[in-house]
Amino acid sequence: MITQLKHEPFALILTGASGAGKGTIGKALLETYEDLYLSVSATTRSERPGEKEGVHYFFYSKNTFIEAIGNNKMLEWAEVFGHYYGTPKQEVFDAFEQKKDVLFDIDWQGARQIKDNLGIRAVNIHILPPSREELKQRLVERGQDSLEVINKRMQKAASEISHWKDCDYVIVNHNLQTAIAETKIIYQAECRRRIRLNYLDGIAKDFL
Ligand code: 5GP
Repeated sequence: MITQLKHEPFALILTGASGAGKGTIGKALLETYEDLYLSVSATTRSERPGEKEGVHYFFYSKNTFIEAIGNNKMLEWAEVFGHYYGTPKQEVFDAFEQKKDVLFDIDWQGARQIKDNLGIRAVNIHILPPSREELKQRLVERGQDSLEVINKRMQKAASEISHWKDCDYVIVNHNLQTAIAETKIIYQAECRRRIRLNYLDGIAKDFL
């Protein structure tokens, strides 16, 4: 596990079509950096086999979700595949309070809202699949969804990818290990942004 230099914590948002690899890349980052915390989203979609409440998602009823929006408890939210998805605010700010960076695996609508809300405290990396054929192949090989759902995911992929220029960085995932290494480089560089290192002021003044 790597502990980063103490810096002002920020949001690291991974966007990209489902099947592009953002989940696997995110997992590799979480296994590497102990000060990186995964934001657990809330959703109104039903639980898939193997998913756990509070680990993969918080499973909300539609009413609970709408109430949370009304009470300003969501940092961002969007409708995806006919269901609501969103980020509960509290856990993100609790993590920031504990000097942890927060990793997000959300869609472009959520990424845009978080960037609007957090400004320089948010960094968005878009993970791009190498080609349309390759993406479809990966979704089929995952064996998770029916052909109908895969075709829906391909449509959503097109919509997700059409917003790729909104992001700060792009990684083309030809090779998973290379994509993970590139994401780590970006994360580490962002941890060293001067704007996040105001505590060094004291050290610098010592030299004056
Ligand atoms: P899935 O149902 O396959 O877990 O996720 C479907 C889509 O919802 C993915 O594109 C994922 O990035 C997006 N998503 C998951 N959580 C959130 C969230 O909290 N906010 C937003 N805006 N999108 C999310």
